[in-house]
Amino acid sequence: MAGAAKALIFLGPPGAGKGTQAKRIAKELGVPHLSTGDMLREAVANGTALGKQAKPIMDRGDLVPDSIVLGMVEERLQRPDCGNGFIFDGFPRTLPQAEELDRILVRRGFGNPLVIEFQVAEDTLIKRVSGRWSCPVGGETYNVYERAPKVPGICDVDGGKLVQRNDDRPEIVKERFAAYARQTMPLSQYYRKRGVLKAIDGGLGVDDVTRTLNGILNVAGA
Ligand code: AMP
Repeated sequence: MAGAAKALIFLGPPGAGKGTQAKRIAKELGVPHLSTGDMLREAVANGTALGKQAKPIMDRGDLVPDSIVLGMVEERLQRPDCGNGFIFDGFPRTLPQAEELDRILVRRGFGNPLVIEFQVAEDTLIKRVSGRWSCPVGGETYNVYERAPKVPGICDVDGGKLVQRNDDRPEIVKERFAAYARQTMPLSQYYRKRGVLKAIDGGLGVDDVTRTLNGILNVAGA
């Protein structure tokens, strides 16, 4: 990244590893990790008006309306920590979101985003999502198949009691994959045509994917 402010977008289906990698890379680059899913879950947990509107939609695995997500993102980008760049995880997810994001980035003085598409085989995605547990204290994520915590159900970092996401249940996961195929997959073409998309093999182990990303981003220690 050679120190330049950059808008990074991690694109990929549920379970592709976007969140895990975004956390790591954001830390390395010293930029915020902006997960619209996390923002929405926080609004739901806080019982805000926005959260109340989003909850039933999220519970059935659909996408919340563009206007809600865009309002949230625009507000978040105004905070000073976004001045040196940021990583979007789970945003944009529809063509109108991508088009509006382009306008927002121009307004905020950013050039083209760099979009990393995580490509992962479907059976791996299912295993990752169904085995996913996270810590409500620090947000650390685990997978019972690939990256199990040392003590089952307990966070290695802060001892928090691990929880499973409401929408990681099999019937809801199916809906989330369908929403991805229908509404988000076209973004791959949208960004590829602009020459700003880089596809990576997201099926590798966590450290290997981080190494790949470091290579692309030219982060020290790659
Ligand atoms: P995630 O944590 O990214 O898998 O998001 C969880 C849920 O939040 C999704 O299934 C959607 O209901 C909602 N959501 C997150 N990001 C967006 C977005 N960019 N557009 C619409 N809905 C979103």
